Amino acid sequence: MQKNKILIVGAGIGGLTTALRLAKRGYEVTILEKNEQAGGRLNQIKKDGFTFDTGPSFFSMSYEFKEFADDCGISLPFEYVELDPLYTVNFKDSGKTFFLYKDIKKLATQFADIEPQFEQKMMRYLKKCEQVYNDTVNLVIKQNFDSLQAYLITLARVNPIHLPLLFRNFWQQIERYFESEEARQIISLVSFFLGRTPFDTSAIYTLLSHVEFTHDGYYNVKGGMYQVVSGIVSELEKAGVTIVYHTEIKDYETKGLYLASLIDQNGKKWQSDIYVINADAALFRGRVFNREKYSEPQLQKKDWTMGYLTFYIGIDQKLPEVNHHNYFLGGNFKEYADNVLRNPGVLEKPYYYVNVLSKHNADCAPEGCETLFFVCPVPNLIYKPDWHDKDEVVNSIIDDFSQRIGTEIQPHIISRTIYTPIEWEKRFNLYKGSGLGLSHSMTQIGAFRPSNFDEQFDNVFYVGASTAPGAGIPMAVISSKLVTERVEKFRNK
Ligand SMILES: Cc1cc2nc3c(=O)[nH]c(=O)nc-3n(C[C@H](O)[C@H](O)[C@H](O)COP(=O)(O)OP(=O)(O)OC[C@H]3O[C@@H](n4cnc5c(N)ncnc54)[C@H](O)[C@@H]3O)c2cc1C
Repeated sequence: MQKNKILIVGAGIGGLTTALRLAKRGYEVTILEKNEQAGGRLNQIKKDGFTFDTGPSFFSMSYEFKEFADDCGISLPFEYVELDPLYTVNFKDSGKTFFLYKDIKKLATQFADIEPQFEQKMMRYLKKCEQVYNDTVNLVIKQNFDSLQAYLITLARVNPIHLPLLFRNFWQQIERYFESEEARQIISLVSFFLGRTPFDTSAIYTLLSHVEFTHDGYYNVKGGMYQVVSGIVSELEKAGVTIVYHTEIKDYETKGLYLASLIDQNGKKWQSDIYVINADAALFRGRVFNREKYSEPQLQKKDWTMGYLTFYIGIDQKLPEVNHHNYFLGGNFKEYADNVLRNPGVLEKPYYYVNVLSKHNADCAPEGCETLFFVCPVPNLIYKPDWHDKDEVVNSIIDDFSQRIGTEIQPHIISRTIYTPIEWEKRFNLYKGSGLGLSHSMTQIGAFRPSNFDEQFDNVFYVGASTAPGAGIPMAVISSKLVTERVEKFRNK
C-alpha cells in the first residue's frame, strides 16, 4: 500500500501544525474543514470594523512553538509578546484589583496586609510545583503510550514523593500554603483554564502555577491570537498543502483493516493512504465511526469540561482604566465553583474574564473605539440546554462590569455577538458545547484518554484536545508532534 497521501479532518491548531510537520516530511497533505475558515476554536470574528479573537487569549509554553518551527525548518510566522503582569484579578466585595506580576517580590507587596509572609509561602509553593512539572512533563505528558500497561509502568517511575497529590484536589493543596481567601482564589484560578474548578481538579495540576509564574509565563500574539493561524496557513500554502472548506465528514468506508474513504455531507468520497482526525477524538469515534464505546450513552457518561458563554463587544470609546487581561470574581467563590459546572443557577454571573484586544493592537478597533471579548464559565449543554435567556445573562455581566470599572458601557455598544455553548457546539462539533473537550480527570488522561491511534483502522490517527496529551494551544502543538511520530512509524513499518 502507498503511504504518502494524508487527509486531515479539521483545521484547528492541532490539524494545522500536524499538516505542516507532515508536509515538511514529504507527505502530500490535504485538510478538510467544516467551516469557512481555519483555526477551530482559535478563531476570529471580523464585524462592524472590529476584530475579535474568539477563544484563546494567550498561550503558555512558548518553547513548544519554537520546537514546531525548528521541526518544520521555518521561522515562526507570528510574533509574540511576554505578559507581565500575567493578568489582573478584581474582587467584587472589596473592589480591590491585584496585578499578577511574575516578580514574586512585587506580587507580594499587594498581599502585605492580608497574607503575612506571602513571598516565602509563594516561593515554597512554586518550588513544589516546579518539582511536579520537572518530574512529569517529559515522562508522562510528551510521550506516546502504546498500551495502558506501558502508561502505568511509566507512572510508576514518577518520583513517589508526589504520590500524596493524587489524593488531594487543587484547592486542598493551595490551602496547605496560603491562609487568605484572596491568595487561595487567585492562585487556584489557573485550574479554570483546564475547564474545571479547583475543587475537582487534581493537585497534580498545581504544576500549572510553575508554568505561569516561574517557567515560561504567558504570551500575547501581536495583532491578535488569530495571527498564529494566519501565519501557519501561509506556511502551509508555501508547502503545497490544500485546505478544503465547507466540508464536513459524516461517514466512512472500509477495506479490511484500513479506512478506505471518508464521506462528506454531500456524499463526496475522500480517499487517502493515511487519515489524521483533528475533530474531537471521542465524538468522531462515536458519531462518524459508530463505535459502541463512544455511543451517545457512553459519551454522556464521560467527564466533560464546562461550557463558555463568550461575547464580543465593540464600543465607541476607550477604556483606559481596564487592562488587557482581566478576571472579575464575585464574593462566593466556593459556592460558585460548586455550581458552575452543573447548576444553571441565577442569571447574575459575577465571575468572568474580559480581554481588551485593542489595548495593544490598535488595528483591531476603529479609531477611538475598544474591542472587548468576555468569557464566562457556564454549565455545558448537558446541564443547561436552553439559552433563551442569553441576552439577559449577557446584560447582567455588562452591567456588573460597568459598575466595577465605573463606566456605563451599554450606551456605547456598537457591535455585539454572542456565542452560547449552543453556538460552540454547532460551529466546532464540541460535545454539548463543552469548551475544552474531555476533562483532565485522572481516568481521562494519558493512556486513559482516547488514544491518538485508532483501535480498528491501522491507517487512522488523531490529534487535538480530546486525545493525548490534552487541551490548550501548547498541548495541541505537542499532540501534533506525537501524532507525527505515529504516522512516521506507520510509514516505516
Ligand atoms: C472560550 C475558550 C477560551 C480558550 N482560551 C484558551 C487560552 O487562553 N489559551 C489556550 O492555550 N487555550 C485556550 N482554549 C483552548 C484551545 O482553544 C483549544 O484547546 C485548542 O484550540 C483546540 O485545538 P484543536 O485543534 O484540538 O481543536 P479545534 O480547535 O476544535 O479544531 C477542530 C477542527 O475540526 C473541525 N471539525 C470538527 N468536526 C469535523 C468534521 N466532522 N469534519 C470536518 N471538520 C470538522 C472544527 O470545525 C475545527 O475547526 C480556549 C478554548 C475556548 C473555547
